[in-house]
Amino acid sequence: MKLEKIIKISGKIKVITGLHIGAASETIEIGGMDNPIIKDPLPESGAPYIPGSSLKGKLRSLLEIKEGRFVMGKGRADGAPCDCGQKDCPVCPVFGTSASKDKGRNGNDVQGPTRVVVRDAMLSSDWKKRFEEGDLPMEVKYENSINRISCMANPRPLERVPAGVEFDFNISFKKFDEDPDNYFQNLLKAMKMLELDALGGAGSRGCGQIKFCPLLIDGVEQSEDFLESLSL
Ligand SMILES: [Zn+2]
Repeated sequence: MKLEKIIKISGKIKVITGLHIGAASETIEIGGMDNPIIKDPLPESGAPYIPGSSLKGKLRSLLEIKEGRFVMGKGRADGAPCDCGQKDCPVCPVFGTSASKDKGRNGNDVQGPTRVVVRDAMLSSDWKKRFEEGDLPMEVKYENSINRISCMANPRPLERVPAGVEFDFNISFKKFDEDPDNYFQNLLKAMKMLELDALGGAGSRGCGQIKFCPLLIDGVEQSEDFLESLSL
């Protein structure tokens, strides 16, 4: 198995509807459906950013749903990650598995190294400047949940990155000589699904719609409807 090339996907993630900001204490789980956007823990910054693990986990879980590869049960409503580690899995070779699964099972081909690396997406330079100058206030949206037995209202603040803000994203993808083309296609399809789904918490309540725009593959800008035009 030889590394043929590393494909770089880069560009901006544009916030279409407010992105929910979670606290760093909300653990980020691979495959989790409610991955938060968190604030830079550096005290002098405090700028919101999208952890690479959040972005990767969300892309993975969407691909698992599409391919019927999530495992229900295990105490998680949204299913646990596939983790089969087999080469013919549409998810595991691309997004990786826990270390113990890399060693082959049932005599089948093993997946080899994880193909995808997703970096943290930081505010793009002009938005970072606005944030530092205090010109980028976070939205606070109050959500009210009503206890249905006591009828007590329980308002809680939901901090959001406002629409229009852009983050720089970087994903690299390793192509090995023996890899089928669908590994890379699956990554692009997961990105398309993310545009149709939501990033961060409270997606079902309208938060977290994003668009990858512009989208560059190896530095070449793709047309605006490039992801949209992929068939799932
Ligand atoms: Zn798998």
